[in-house]
Amino acid sequence: MDMTQPLFKKVAFIGFGLIGSSLARVIQQQHLAEHVVASTRSEQTWQDAKALGLITEGYTDPVTAVQGADLVILALPVQATEVVLQRIAPYIGENTILTDVGSTKGNVVAAAEKVFGQLPQGFVPGHPIAGSEHTGVHAGKADLFVGHKIILTPLECSASWAVQRLTQLWQATGAEVVCMSVEKHDEVLAHTSHLPHLMAFNLVAQFTNRQDNLDIFRYAAGGFRDFSRIAASDPQMWHDIFLSNKDAILKAVDGFESQLCSIRTLIEKDDSNQLMQVLKEAQSARQHFNHMLKKNTVLEKQVTQQFSILPKKHHFKGTFTIPGDKSVSHRSIMFGSIAEGITNVTGFLEGEDALATLQAFKDMGVHIEGPNDGKVTIHGVGMSGLKAPTKALYMGNSGTSMRLLSGMLAAQQFDTVMTGDASLSKRPMERIAKPLRAMGANIQTTGEKGTPPVSITGKQALQGIHYELPMASAQVKSGILLAGLWAAGETSVVEPEPTRDHTERMLRAFGYDVKTEGNTITLNGGGKLVGTDIQVPSDISSAAFFMVAAAICEDSDVTLEAVGINPTRTGVIEILKQMGADISVNNPRIAGGEPIADIRIRGTRTLKGIHIPEDQVPLAIDEFPALFVAASCAEGRTILTGAAELRVKESDRIQVMVDGLQAMGIDCTPTPDGIIIEGKGKSGDWSPIFTGADVQSHHDHRIAMSFSIAGIRASEKVTIHGTETVATSFPTFTQLANEAGLSIDTID
Ligand code: NAP
Repeated sequence: MDMTQPLFKKVAFIGFGLIGSSLARVIQQQHLAEHVVASTRSEQTWQDAKALGLITEGYTDPVTAVQGADLVILALPVQATEVVLQRIAPYIGENTILTDVGSTKGNVVAAAEKVFGQLPQGFVPGHPIAGSEHTGVHAGKADLFVGHKIILTPLECSASWAVQRLTQLWQATGAEVVCMSVEKHDEVLAHTSHLPHLMAFNLVAQFTNRQDNLDIFRYAAGGFRDFSRIAASDPQMWHDIFLSNKDAILKAVDGFESQLCSIRTLIEKDDSNQLMQVLKEAQSARQHFNHMLKKNTVLEKQVTQQFSILPKKHHFKGTFTIPGDKSVSHRSIMFGSIAEGITNVTGFLEGEDALATLQAFKDMGVHIEGPNDGKVTIHGVGMSGLKAPTKALYMGNSGTSMRLLSGMLAAQQFDTVMTGDASLSKRPMERIAKPLRAMGANIQTTGEKGTPPVSITGKQALQGIHYELPMASAQVKSGILLAGLWAAGETSVVEPEPTRDHTERMLRAFGYDVKTEGNTITLNGGGKLVGTDIQVPSDISSAAFFMVAAAICEDSDVTLEAVGINPTRTGVIEILKQMGADISVNNPRIAGGEPIADIRIRGTRTLKGIHIPEDQVPLAIDEFPALFVAASCAEGRTILTGAAELRVKESDRIQVMVDGLQAMGIDCTPTPDGIIIEGKGKSGDWSPIFTGADVQSHHDHRIAMSFSIAGIRASEKVTIHGTETVATSFPTFTQLANEAGLSIDTID
């Protein structure tokens, strides 16, 4: 954009209510036009607009308004479009951009075709997905569009210069501009906006017709209030929209009716299980959707959740069942989906990351029931049964999902795109893309630095590979092995250090032959998986926060039941033992191919600083943020080396922990591949170690939980920002930590 010249000479609004006046506010504030004029139905409206300084001239005749304008914006009810266009059409020149903001697009285009015959090249219909139930020039706000989407629906006639300048205008409002076809727009909006409004109006109308309606309104609970809010919108506008987008809305209503009837039947038949299933599925889909929205709103606007922990003499006691292992939960869905027959999963982690994987496979046509209290039933579709998803697969915050799925999707007969949230979008994906390309995959990392989105072109014949991993990474190893399931011949991966072997174990549980010889894992393509039962063990990575909290808190005594103690994951236990923690592993047993045990840990002695053995690093890679808190409370220096991988996790976990620990009064130094921490503990002294502080988790769940447990030994209040991602791996963290004796307040 030429910053010396305004974007437009003269902008003419036809209709100047909520939407028109909001856009005009931005145009005036940012001097995007030399003149702004408006034509409105009533003189009062343009007089008010002039008094507010939003326009230089106002009219009730649209013809006067549009003369000499290089941008004409129809910001009136969609039903009025044709009449207005009849009048102004002769004044729309070759270089005039003509657009609108109407909530339906098909009928606006039809009206324009009727009036113009051949549509002008400057015609680009649009629709801001932002608004409110208030109308009129006084309801407008300059920030109405910030963080929202603007849909432009360019037509065959639309010139690219017109689309570009309109895009610049809308981007100046703080909105994200997306383009789609008119048909797609009307179908999507029928479901996401028009149907909900119709339902809200309908619900209020239903109550209004009842004799006891006064009581209903008087005692209206939150549910009614929340659900009916949008029925306060302008009836004329919605009347117009319902009639204008009739076909798509009728389809959406039919879908609603049939879903409502099936829920009605479940209630009528007292079918408690099925009813619970439907409600649970809806709840988890809503949570998933919520997380997708957070990506656009919460993270970008930096409005986040906080934990705060007040200083007091905390205790930490009890017996707890920590939620299911994230790695195993992800894999149970992936492998169950491509297996033949049914897979029953228990103990599934209902966190947002694992739910993102579950949703991705639903999007690829797999019938999955649940989760319902950790139970999931997957109706496997076999090795060639996945179907092309109709949209990009959203992987949320989960690097595991994106890297493992890269391997699986590279071998499919259809194209896919995977996206993630703000944090996942910064994580390196070339490390998996490169070996997959060597196998014949067509995979692109379309982010700036080899980062997501990941775009995969299907129908490639993959060849087995012998690959030596340049870094110890269970995710890359697994991604390659999974591609190997479909590849011709043998695929083998050599790892520099042993990493998590959940993929190998679970493939064997599904009946697939996988060989491990030393550090080399080998399988042959062309086999099949057979559905099985998977019990997901409690997640040792989540349990680690409770282990460290108990180890640093006087007189604590915590037992964590049925925790996964896969030898590739037990580094945290070994390291805590070497630091002198009072920890015991009891009742070891096997569940679903994975070893589990009950872990008891007590706060009986002060930990001591150690040089963490490098061979333990890959076995404790996710637990280091919590271990840094333990090291801060230990007596003497702790040194970590060989852990450069920590810098490319959900955040740069070395730097982010150093920043937070230093703010809490700890002397620590980052190194390229680790950290040096001068522990403040003294033998037999349980007084506070940390000062109070406001610390940033950078939306990294493990960082957020680590600083939370540090609060147990803090002298003043500790506040942690950006804690909403804790739900990705440990949805019950605050509940269980508070039951144990820590008082965490959650502030949204
Ligand atoms: P609004 O606040 O009610 O303003 C409508 C404007 O159009 C007023 O200036 C009105 O003039 C004028 N107008 C009404 N009927 C007219 C007619 N027959 N001929 C000429 N002018 C007429 O409405 P809005 O919320 O800004 O909505 C405008 C458009 O934006 C609609 O097409 C709507 O679908 C779309 N939209 C609305 C929302 C939302 O949440 N409100 C969101 C996205 C898109 P007077 O003031 O003189 O009556």
